[in-house]
Amino acid sequence: MSTALQIASLGSGSNGNATIVDDGETCLLIDLGFSVKETEKRLRRIGKVPQDIDAILVTHEHADHIHGVAPFARKYHPPVYITPGSHNPQKMGLMPKVHHVNIHRKFTIGSLEVEPVPVPHDSAEPCQYLVTANEIKIGLLTDLGHVTPFVVQQYRCCEILLLECNHDLAMLANGPYPYKLKQRVGGNQGHLNNEQAAGLLKSMQLDRLEHLVLMHISEKNNKSSLAVDAVKQVLYGWTGKMHIADQSAGFDWITCKLKK
Ligand SMILES: [Zn+2]
Ligand SMILES: [Zn+2]
Repeated sequence: MSTALQIASLGSGSNGNATIVDDGETCLLIDLGFSVKETEKRLRRIGKVPQDIDAILVTHEHADHIHGVAPFARKYHPPVYITPGSHNPQKMGLMPKVHHVNIHRKFTIGSLEVEPVPVPHDSAEPCQYLVTANEIKIGLLTDLGHVTPFVVQQYRCCEILLLECNHDLAMLANGPYPYKLKQRVGGNQGHLNNEQAAGLLKSMQLDRLEHLVLMHISEKNNKSSLAVDAVKQVLYGWTGKMHIADQSAGFDWITCKLKK
């Protein structure tokens, strides 16, 4: 029986995402936006080899989440879990083992329980994931345009929350993106801004939250200091630890001890 749940990121942002969850028995990769070579390099950095990956979970088909999924699966053969809407076999090409995720149903991969959560994002069938091992719950929540009541309900109780703080509203408005892209990113099916992220935290059971990681921070439309300032406003008295995920380094292992 494993004793700790660990999580790390190989990188987070619009140039590539990959998150690893490992309870000592089962090692999951959630999304893979990097080439196989880059992934091998980044795995080495956190003390893993590609053969350690038991399965890949996919949130949606945007390139920053899916670019390396099929090539990695062809080379190392982990099964890929993906919603039917996100899975375009013509585009992705053959993969040795594909499981279609029912977005409304929990399932297990080895020792981990996985719960998909549908989110509003401009892709075919996007979802985010809650992963639980021995009552420790990790919530991954990026790539959504707004926080729905269902998201609030599902993410209320987590020990570790990986939360998108994509942009600062003023930086996006005054930034270099063309008008249409600003509309997309800031829209209802785009990405969470710092205030929206803070809004979700307000509705959470904070005494249960041990680690908060600020994720998918835009390099052009945000600064980590602005994201931290925004969420701190609603974290008064909170005693957990805050972490920042960045594009090149992701974040190093965060460990949560299992309860039984
Ligand atoms: Zn993304
Ligand atoms: Zn996306």
